[in-house]
Amino acid sequence: MTTEQSRALFKRAQSVTPGGVNSPVRAFQAVGGTPRFMVRGEGPFLWDADGNRYVDLVSSWGPMIHGHAHPPIVDAVRAAATSGLSFGTPTEAEIDLAEEIVRRVDPVQRVRLVNSGTEATMSAIRLARGFTGRAKIVKFAGCYHGHVDALLAEAGSGVATFALPNSPGVTGAQAGDTIVLPYNDLDAVRAAFTEHGTEIAAVITEAAAGNMGAVPPEPGFNEGLRALTAEHGALLVMDEVMTGFRVTEAGWHGIDTVAGDLYTFGKVMSGGLPAAAFGGRADVMALLAPAGPVYQAGTLSGNPVAVAAGLASLREAKPGTYMRLNANATRLGALLGTALSEAGVPHRVQFAGNLLSVFFTETPVRNFAEVRATATGRFPAFFHALLDGGVYAPPSAFEAWFVNAAMTDETFEIIAAALPAAAAAAAEGEK
Ligand SMILES: *Cc1c(COP(=O)(O)O)cnc(C)c1O
Repeated sequence: MTTEQSRALFKRAQSVTPGGVNSPVRAFQAVGGTPRFMVRGEGPFLWDADGNRYVDLVSSWGPMIHGHAHPPIVDAVRAAATSGLSFGTPTEAEIDLAEEIVRRVDPVQRVRLVNSGTEATMSAIRLARGFTGRAKIVKFAGCYHGHVDALLAEAGSGVATFALPNSPGVTGAQAGDTIVLPYNDLDAVRAAFTEHGTEIAAVITEAAAGNMGAVPPEPGFNEGLRALTAEHGALLVMDEVMTGFRVTEAGWHGIDTVAGDLYTFGKVMSGGLPAAAFGGRADVMALLAPAGPVYQAGTLSGNPVAVAAGLASLREAKPGTYMRLNANATRLGALLGTALSEAGVPHRVQFAGNLLSVFFTETPVRNFAEVRATATGRFPAFFHALLDGGVYAPPSAFEAWFVNAAMTDETFEIIAAALPAAAAAAAEGEK
């Protein structure tokens, strides 16, 4: 496999952009080697600048559940773009998208559109503080809620990949109201409420953790968060930016039916363009400007092209889509497990709905400390052998794998063919 073009582009990029990328994990630092500069995607495949084709198991970190360049989405985007790119006024399609979200997720009665998941969580936190008149926020180690100052503490995703427990540039004042607790540990949450009960505005959690790899909530964990927040007058913010509209039509809420007060969405509901949302209880959302005093705004919020992409993506996401996503995740997990077992590599393929991860350990992984204790040193060799075999896995041991509904028998044959060498590489990998 030649990578000359990607190498040249990476060099050029590094002279104009810090690290050569616009989002850290793309730089391949955790796995080494040259990030692939992609030029085209179609269905389950990506093509890089050197003409190499890959089965894409990242799906743009979630949004592309229908595969790449899905014709109904591309058509919707083309039609919207032809009618004008941005008006800075309300449009009917924004109502359609909000109605689609409200229809799917029961506890969501009102929706505000924004441009990124980060903006959604930042705004939800501000709103929770405005509603409760309290300052403190509880978050869980290994959960990632975007690069919001107050939420970067012990975050997952790239923050975990680069082992940055706390980011310089976040002041003590910004982080000081954040209480970080271990995921799946209700006793810790109970203790925090006992100590700070009247100061906690909200608990924010990934409805199922996907940014330290796939770590589902233990039975009763989300229910316990619901009960404890209600008991102490705090809000429960369910971050479904990753799980929303991916794991079921109603996101993770469709799996455990626990009702948050506020929700954050992004990724799938964007169709692949910059769009995200937050929403929830009507009485809480009523505090948002211009209905109420909590300010929140955006020049490009509800952008007509992004909204067209998101709406088309959701309308295309039917029960059959979720059946295919689930079947593809199961099939991928089985292939991974078989190959690693045959190579004698201790591993667990762990699922959170149709999100999955490979952890190099034999014990269940329930929180960030347990993720970090796995043999992540095996991951770079495993990753690169897959890449050489034409399979694009997430370039970090701390990220979930994302299937799409466009995967075919051919894609699974490519994965199956690449896996023995990858499993052998993992077996040799630094433990
Ligand atoms: C991706 C993600 C975010 C951040 O979304 P961006 O669009 O990257 O800002 C927030 N929360 C969760 C759970 C995510 O997976």
